[in-house]
Amino acid sequence: MSRPADPRRALVIGAGLSGSAVAFSLAQRGWSVTVLDQANGLGAGASGLPAGLAAPHVSPDDNVLSRITRAGVEATLQRAQTLLQNGTDWDLTGVLEHNVGAKRRLPQDLQGSDASALATPAQIAAAGLPPGTPALWHAHAGWIRPRQLVAAQLQTPGIQVLWGQHVHSLERHGTEWTVRDAQGQPLGQARWVVVASAFDSLALLQPLPGFAVPLNPLRGQISFGHMTDLSADERRLLPPFPVNGHGSFISGVPTPAGTPGWFIGSTFERECEQAPVRPEDHEANRLRLATLLPDLGEAMNTQFDPARVQGWAGVRCTLPNRLPAVGPIDRERLPGLCLSAGMGARGISLSVLCGELLAAELNHDPLPLPPELSRHLRAERYANPVTSSHQRDGAP
Ligand SMILES: Cc1cc2nc3c(=O)[nH]c(=O)nc-3n(C[C@H](O)[C@H](O)[C@H](O)COP(=O)(O)OP(=O)(O)OC[C@H]3O[C@@H](n4cnc5c(N)ncnc54)[C@H](O)[C@@H]3O)c2cc1C
Repeated sequence: MSRPADPRRALVIGAGLSGSAVAFSLAQRGWSVTVLDQANGLGAGASGLPAGLAAPHVSPDDNVLSRITRAGVEATLQRAQTLLQNGTDWDLTGVLEHNVGAKRRLPQDLQGSDASALATPAQIAAAGLPPGTPALWHAHAGWIRPRQLVAAQLQTPGIQVLWGQHVHSLERHGTEWTVRDAQGQPLGQARWVVVASAFDSLALLQPLPGFAVPLNPLRGQISFGHMTDLSADERRLLPPFPVNGHGSFISGVPTPAGTPGWFIGSTFERECEQAPVRPEDHEANRLRLATLLPDLGEAMNTQFDPARVQGWAGVRCTLPNRLPAVGPIDRERLPGLCLSAGMGARGISLSVLCGELLAAELNHDPLPLPPELSRHLRAERYANPVTSSHQRDGAP
């Protein structure tokens, strides 16, 4: 007789921001979690990004994306405060959004809020922008090194991480899922499986009946360099906080080599599943900086010389409405199979909230978002309706 499946055991496929956040939230609830990743260590996917921003999105009608992103940023900042080293792994600096083209508008009731407001003349001047430049100030925002967050989340008791495990297929027998490698060897078994392998989730899940989540690849590249290579004049022009609004610029944050650096990015290339670093993308980032922070951009032109500039590229996983797909994929046809993917360009801001949402649902806890917001994140929103054989045959 086979042993009954442990109801509080989960396999998570993918050890990036999404997978580590789900694993953390389940382990915090007493679950036993095994995380499988095809790479031999941290940061193989988009979460290998050297540094990025947790920053809110604003819209005049405070739309669903804005409200979810704001909740996500709060969740990420709280997690960072608990798990990360301030100043080296992350910092709550506040972020100035250069409102390029004056396209962004705050909702009326957010105008004077703590979270996002019109930037003051002093903040605009500190960024090195001319007086009167349209800009917003996001106080609850800052930079994070994603790899540090992933590592810290995975170090939670109750989580086992197995590297070098490429999951090729999934199949369900009874109440348990078995995940297998390309040779058909089992890599693990559990009642609950969470697929968090970003765009690669598509190849894994597409063969399963009814799977219809339209995941897309979106390659991006950042350019970066070392602070020690900047001249005194260039350093004088550096803003004391990150600036976004046309890409984003961050400085004073450790590069992958550990020494302080500057970062500008990033590019957006649709339908590209590979992530080589390209010289033309450094040029695009040079132009991006020239628009975002014109004086600094002009001063830093030579930092983009091919012999000097460094790059990092990754593949984001996107969904059409820019909101991730989280939770059970199709309870009827694929019971026990969940997804946390489609973080797009906001994985730092959204993955922690998505992990909490999924774990709360599996553990039957109150959800961290009101139903009118959480329903927009459900992976099941894409489930194809089950067609009975009756309907398939064309019977009324
Ligand atoms: C250039 C660039 C700049 C960005 N800037 C920001 C930013 O400033 N702010 C922000 O919020 N977000 C930013 N992002 C987005 C953010 O990096 C991503 O949304 C996030 O890292 C996605 O995390 P993930 O865990 O879903 O995917 P990934 O980090 O890609 O993780 C997927 C994991 O799954 C593993 N895997 C894949 N297939 C399999 C398989 N078959 N079996 C086992 N393991 C598998 C991979 O090895 C990988 O470790 C940026 C992204 C890029 C590319």
